[in-house]
Amino acid sequence: MNRSRLVKKDLKTVWHPCTQMKDHEKIPMIPIKSGKGVWLYDYDDNKYLDAISSWWVNIFGHSNTYINNSIKKQLSKLEHVLLAGFTHEPAINLAEGLISITPKKITKCFFTDNGSSSIDAAMKMSYHYWQNKGKKSKKGFIALSNSYHGETLGSLSVSNIDLYKKTYESILKDTIIVDSPDSYRKKENVSEEEHAEQMFNKMYKALKDNHRNVCAVIVEPLIQCAGYMRMYHHKYLELLREACTKFNVHLIADEIAVGFGRTGTMFGFEQAKITPDIICLSKGITGGYMTLSTILTTDDIYDAFYDEYEKLNAFLHSHSYTANPIACSAANATLNLFKKKKVVENNKKLSLHMKKCFESLNDHPHVSDVRQKGMVLAIELVKNKKKKTSYDWKERRGIKAYLHGLKNNVLMRPLGNVLYFMPPYVITKKEISFVSEIMKEGVDEATKKSS
Ligand SMILES: *Cc1c(COP(=O)(O)O)cnc(C)c1O
Repeated sequence: MNRSRLVKKDLKTVWHPCTQMKDHEKIPMIPIKSGKGVWLYDYDDNKYLDAISSWWVNIFGHSNTYINNSIKKQLSKLEHVLLAGFTHEPAINLAEGLISITPKKITKCFFTDNGSSSIDAAMKMSYHYWQNKGKKSKKGFIALSNSYHGETLGSLSVSNIDLYKKTYESILKDTIIVDSPDSYRKKENVSEEEHAEQMFNKMYKALKDNHRNVCAVIVEPLIQCAGYMRMYHHKYLELLREACTKFNVHLIADEIAVGFGRTGTMFGFEQAKITPDIICLSKGITGGYMTLSTILTTDDIYDAFYDEYEKLNAFLHSHSYTANPIACSAANATLNLFKKKKVVENNKKLSLHMKKCFESLNDHPHVSDVRQKGMVLAIELVKNKKKKTSYDWKERRGIKAYLHGLKNNVLMRPLGNVLYFMPPYVITKKEISFVSEIMKEGVDEATKKSS
């Protein structure tokens, strides 16, 4: 099948995610035939370096031989079985594996099947915990401004990006939104740590004023990924842990995007040396192979549901494909790769190389910020560098960089006026240098006067 025929058939029947379909009158639709490592191949023999890990899920490259083999082995034994009343080795191994790499107090693994649904389930779990404990007034949630926790009605309720949320506001649950500690708008003479401390005062006040009615605070540790890759200092998480404990409110860490080594440590919250009450994982968990998510939690929460059936205190949440064995086998292979290849350690060299390659953009007249944590680097394009005034969103500057990337073998789908680089960990230094050259040209394209 050739490209143009596939595109025609696609546009006739497929409704794509996060897309104004009319855009495809101008922006090309690209059918992908195959992938290997960091590369994706289309039907015209073009290749694209997947600089955004296919929406942050792919960590060990496409068609990874080791993960492929793990899946093949599992496939020949068992494709799926329900997880109620039954269990299987892939699920048990994965639960053990995840618990072994998280803090001591994390002892239980509940399976869900995609990021958003794990957030919904975490919200229900926290709320239900307090109900079981007789704290009937605890019904609300606190989240940060500019946060993103998913697209289902529950997860969207605790998100705060207008682009995704505003239209649906009237059918969502109210959430207390506290200003994000993101370092981008901090004063120049204030350190990131001091800024985080100062911003925390607002969170403290929100907790102090509302804790009787609040189940949990939910945050994305260190990086608000969908929120334009804004980053903040881990001091904030340290203070948040203390305050949540003090005010009897759960701390939910949404590690869906930042988990599995993205921030330079296996999990983002590790940098603050804290233990969340609930941890949500997805995206990288299967190496980018298939949909799976988990909620990790403590004995304290688990025990609040453990009771005689007649008390009706059980957590009756379920998904048909809970802990699908094939997905779990991909996840187990992914965890093995982390151990076998000392990935977090080796990524340090790659992330340092990323830093060096992009350093020169700090001097670009239309770049206000080149920020990085571990294997995530973001470039913010602005109209006025000094005042950090944004370009009008309607100009859609980022798309110009995107199109430049496509012409030059790099897939870098921007977030508004923010370009970012979040590659699979199997990328080489040479490939990082290559991406940085194309992205720098993309920045020039996107910020050209005439455009
Ligand atoms: C992607 C993402 C989600 C939602 O996960 P889906 O699998 O896309 O539903 C939730 N939280 C964060 C931080 C994410 O990046």
